[in-house]
Amino acid sequence: MARQRITVVGNGFASLFFVGRFAFPRLCPAAASWLARLDSRHEVTVIGNGRFVYFPAIPEFITGHKTARDITLDIRPYLRRRNIRFIDARVNDVRDGGRTVVTDHGSHDNDALFIGTGPAFRLDDIPGTAEHTYSPCCGPEQMEAFMQRLNALDNGTIYVGFKLNKQDGFVAGRGGQMYECAALLDYALKQRGVRERFEIHLFSPDIAPGETGMITDALRARNIVLDYGYEPEAFVEGGMRDPGGAFRQADLVLFTPGIHAPDWVRQSCLPVTAGGHIDVDRYGQVRGLERVFAAGDCAAHEDPPPWVPHQAHMAQLRAEAAADNLKAVLRGQQPSRTYRFELSCILNMQNDALWLHVASDGKPPFHGLFPRHSKRLVRVKEAFERLYLFYLRHL
Ligand SMILES: Cc1cc2nc3c(=O)[nH]c(=O)nc-3n(C[C@H](O)[C@H](O)[C@H](O)COP(=O)(O)OP(=O)(O)OC[C@H]3O[C@@H](n4cnc5c(N)ncnc54)[C@H](O)[C@@H]3O)c2cc1C
Repeated sequence: MARQRITVVGNGFASLFFVGRFAFPRLCPAAASWLARLDSRHEVTVIGNGRFVYFPAIPEFITGHKTARDITLDIRPYLRRRNIRFIDARVNDVRDGGRTVVTDHGSHDNDALFIGTGPAFRLDDIPGTAEHTYSPCCGPEQMEAFMQRLNALDNGTIYVGFKLNKQDGFVAGRGGQMYECAALLDYALKQRGVRERFEIHLFSPDIAPGETGMITDALRARNIVLDYGYEPEAFVEGGMRDPGGAFRQADLVLFTPGIHAPDWVRQSCLPVTAGGHIDVDRYGQVRGLERVFAAGDCAAHEDPPPWVPHQAHMAQLRAEAAADNLKAVLRGQQPSRTYRFELSCILNMQNDALWLHVASDGKPPFHGLFPRHSKRLVRVKEAFERLYLFYLRHL
């Protein structure tokens, strides 16, 4: 019998959790890699750039604890150990109901498709975003460029902000990460002994003025000016213009716009939601297409709670459920695995940390093993990163 060809687009969190689960899920990695060679049923191909980026550590560039080198790795050896074919290419279309993936280096047919292509940011939403702001979400190079500019300043005003895309009923954006950046900025400037010469503003049109809570308290305690409820009309040279036309001076702006699926998706045969995500059902199946699944930041949810964000953690829950469902479909069964909705992340402020957690089943993270507010969580976050990167590098 011919092997079923499974194509996976992207080599980020969603795709790697998908292939990790699809290829012998409950075995130790060493056994999985041996058995993958003997598996005669599936031929798995990953199409991507071969470079994995551990995004959650990018804010730590601000304190100098991380560099691009520390958080970027060549993922091809990981795939080779699992007998997964790799194609170094950029996907720019999906046709024939999902059976053909078109790349800048030719087309590839499949029997089943998983899309984990990650997000695109709405750079056109606020004019001047691409020209006059930096974002930790655009990758390590852009964050390093921000750091170069920051390190050249002895004083000044820095705006840190975010805008969310909530059109699909959940949070498509990077709020927590920008709070983290603002708090780490405060810490780093204090370490340099220049904090009193800088003003740090946190702005977001998605947070109501007068908002209270643990994060707001933590920012206030750090003398960060809260510009909640504020959306610039445009970013311009040397700052931003507010809706009344007034100019706000800023030496540097670190900003992340709302998220949706990449532009090529809208030209493909993949259905797209009002908010611009790939339209999937509760099993991760792309609506209206057979044996096509999607998960991670490019995909919407069916009936989500309004607080659920795009996260590596959610990408894992969704991608693993999609892998189980694809296996069921390939066996001729109905998909049945759904996933939990969960917001879970450690907000690292270097001299303190908060574990932000909401789950659809109300359960605490790790059965309540860890405190929710403690400086020790900085080490816990570091340990998760080390463990995952060790797994990808060596197992
Ligand atoms: C600064 C920052 C901090 C964060 N902190 C946390 C945190 O603490 N906890 C947490 O859970 N989450 C965090 N996140 C969110 C998390 O990183 C994302 O939710 C996660 O990366 C989404 O996984 P993904 O696989 O959908 O996308 P990605 O990880 O972005 O992977 C997408 C993949 O697709 C590839 N790709 C893109 N376009 C194409 C194409 N056309 N053709 C082929 N391949 C393509 C990319 O190269 C990449 O390999 C953070 C994000 C940022 C930016």
